[in-house]
Amino acid sequence: MSSAVTPANIVPQLCGDRWQTMESDRWTEVYNPSNGQVIARTPLATADETATVVEAAAAAFPAWRETPVIDRARVMFRYRALLDEHFEELAAIVTREHGKTLAESRAEVNRGIEMVEFAAGIPSLMMGESLPNIARGVDAETARHPVGVCVGITPYNFPNMVPLWMFPVAIVCGNTFVLKPSEKVPLSAVRMIELLLEAGLPPGVMNLVHGDKECVDALLAHPEVAAISFVGSTPIAKSIYEAGTANGKRVQSAGGAKNHLIIMPDADMDSTVQALAASAYGCAGQRCMAGSLAVAVGGAGDPVVESLIEFATNLRVGPSDGDEQIDMGPVIRDDHRQRVAQYIDIAAEEGATIALDGRREFAGDGFLVGPSVVDHVTPEMRVVKEEIFGPVLSVARVDSLDDALAIGDGCEYGNGAVIFTRSGHAARHFKQHFNAGMIGINVGVPAPMAWFPFTGWNHSFFGDLHMQGTEGIHFYTRQKVTLTRWPQEGESHLDPVWKSGK
Ligand code: NAD
Repeated sequence: MSSAVTPANIVPQLCGDRWQTMESDRWTEVYNPSNGQVIARTPLATADETATVVEAAAAAFPAWRETPVIDRARVMFRYRALLDEHFEELAAIVTREHGKTLAESRAEVNRGIEMVEFAAGIPSLMMGESLPNIARGVDAETARHPVGVCVGITPYNFPNMVPLWMFPVAIVCGNTFVLKPSEKVPLSAVRMIELLLEAGLPPGVMNLVHGDKECVDALLAHPEVAAISFVGSTPIAKSIYEAGTANGKRVQSAGGAKNHLIIMPDADMDSTVQALAASAYGCAGQRCMAGSLAVAVGGAGDPVVESLIEFATNLRVGPSDGDEQIDMGPVIRDDHRQRVAQYIDIAAEEGATIALDGRREFAGDGFLVGPSVVDHVTPEMRVVKEEIFGPVLSVARVDSLDDALAIGDGCEYGNGAVIFTRSGHAARHFKQHFNAGMIGINVGVPAPMAWFPFTGWNHSFFGDLHMQGTEGIHFYTRQKVTLTRWPQEGESHLDPVWKSGK
């Protein structure tokens, strides 16, 4: 971070109808993690600049709220077509600023497009309920109304998909929006919003601000902000939830994770090991649904670890930008690479066996670290308790499924958990009792798609209504109940229920 001179490649913000460079004298670098080069600079907005962006969103709200819902939804039909047309460009931007492979970026953009498809169906999904004659001559109905200015604060690991969990739904519900993307990956947000405007969204409905704590604190405190959606690490998620709700805002706040993968002795080992590796090493382990702790039941430990080492050793690790043959790209920053590497030392000091050490020299200046397997871990070790968010898979060995469930009970987090088995009974017992909100049965990454809620539990989520699915629509709307009575000519206006004293 630096100050004083305005740098080149500064990422713009969108305030109402104007793309502009911020006045802030603070910024941070955006890197291409594949080669370590600085590719842009993200300005860090002051509290005053942030307030100006919120006010632009507030000014656009009355007209947008009155725009017929079908017209709001039609923007998403056009937006979907534009995202499709620019699909390869959007995936390339994700790879360039994040470092995941192009195949992983394409998968991410696809998941995001599904959210736009979901949002295009909101006219049906937003409908209320009615019950005629709930009392004599009285009809009751509910209607969903937008809440106002909604804010999205998003993490670095899904620069395209996570913002799309939020703004298409909020906007079609009739709200206006301010996005504060991760300062590490602001370029996807800029391009996605340019395309949204091209789809015909009126000025002010969508806005973009960049920043760090100062900007986020200003968003949390601004009286015009009605709702906050946050996705990021647990300590920040918790603090956003506490500050936002203390300020009277509705908040949905998704945090970090430590996802368990249970391997029963009857599991098909070949497909299980492939699924374990994809879960743990996909996106270089930087997914909130990444498998992080494998729990081998009965005799499953030795064959799993042996095959996993072989599989992981053959993964091609390298700069993902420009090379489609790579299986695993870099992590986001050099300091993150060092943090991941440190966990291998911590595990060894605590008595685990380093079965595969991913720390090695790579050509070039990318933030590369290879896949690691840490064997014979136990529940009190830091590699079991803490989120590493890198390509490290720990393996614990237990005697029974109930022992595996007990490790899950002790977990601070509660995003996803997976079982690999051929037994319907074991699968059912696991589904019923594992202490997490998203369950996979022979599915390595049980991330729900747009139509289902992203149901983290424990310290993986703070709030009530999750992102995605109809829970998202409920979060971005508030209900109104109307009771209606039209008396006949000559009939008293007094409510018959009131008259009868009931
Ligand atoms: P992060 O918490 O560092 O940052 C997330 C957002 O918060 C960013 O926009 C950042 O600018 C902002 N922020 C950072 N520090 C802040 C502070 N002190 N005050 C206010 N705002 C602050 O997370 P990250 O490193 O960008 O993303 C990785 C984390 O996100 C992991 O923990 C991962 O598990 C989690 N994640 C969770 C989900 C989920 O659905 N549960 C999905 C994706 C990522």
